Amino acid sequence: MPAFWLNGKIVAAEYAKLSVFDHGLLYGDGVFEGIRFYNANAFRLAEHLTRLYDSAAAICLNIPYSIDNLVQAIQATISDYSEQQGYLRLVVTRGEGPLGLDPMLCGQANVFIIADSLAVVEKTVLQNGARLIIASTRRLPSDGLDPRIKSLNYLNHILARIEATNAKADEAILLNRHGNVAEGTADNLFIVKNNTVATPAVSDGALAGVTRALIMQLADTMGLVCTEKTLAPYDLYTADECFLTGTAAELIPVRMIDQRLVASCPGRIYQQLHAAFIQQVQQETKRLN
Ligand code: PMP
Repeated sequence: MPAFWLNGKIVAAEYAKLSVFDHGLLYGDGVFEGIRFYNANAFRLAEHLTRLYDSAAAICLNIPYSIDNLVQAIQATISDYSEQQGYLRLVVTRGEGPLGLDPMLCGQANVFIIADSLAVVEKTVLQNGARLIIASTRRLPSDGLDPRIKSLNYLNHILARIEATNAKADEAILLNRHGNVAEGTADNLFIVKNNTVATPAVSDGALAGVTRALIMQLADTMGLVCTEKTLAPYDLYTADECFLTGTAAELIPVRMIDQRLVASCPGRIYQQLHAAFIQQVQQETKRLN
């Protein structure tokens, strides 16, 4: 059973509801975070909350709670959930307002948290690797919407997701308007070539993913060269290894991209990073209990 926190308190499912006049619903006006918890502790919470407050600041959205308040709210939601591990969705909407875009006419932001389970791919995909397509839908250019803002506007990612589903693929990759790789619909992408790990830069349209940052950090600790690099579809097709990272996705090895088999899946470096990731999760979340 999911658990819910809404505007200051834990509520039952029937009260976890917002008005049809909320601008989060009417215009996608709001920001959010997806956060995993393990051992009943939220993972990399400080990083997620920093990104949430930065996203809110960038769109002039006042979050009516302090970081400490939200940390307590998250802990309360996890405690109310039946499992020790799961996924949290923390959403801040613009709040209720009259029809029309102007956010200044809205009342206070609505804030809610859902704790639930989430598996983005099946176990067999985790073992055998995901099949990707490169979507024809492009990532919104950063002069339209800065990719660092994790907003409620996911429509072009949803269009890419529809392309993946129609193609019977597990995930779609969005290119930026220059035709270079940006990211997956809800995850970041890494390749390995000649023992070097590379991922597109935020300026190429990648979200500054919390998992992405951790993987870059772990790669560094392991003595691997890991760089931010502009990647063309060619670089994906000719990679030695490829994998996806994200809070929901964790780490997913990639087997095939646009019908081209990736040379090694799950690759050696993927496996090393995956093991280091699992160890890091346990270390950080167990210590807190
Ligand atoms: N890109 C997009 C578009 C996403 O929605 C997500 C999920 N938050 C990611 C990348 C991965 O980021 P993170 O590791 O912070 O979950």
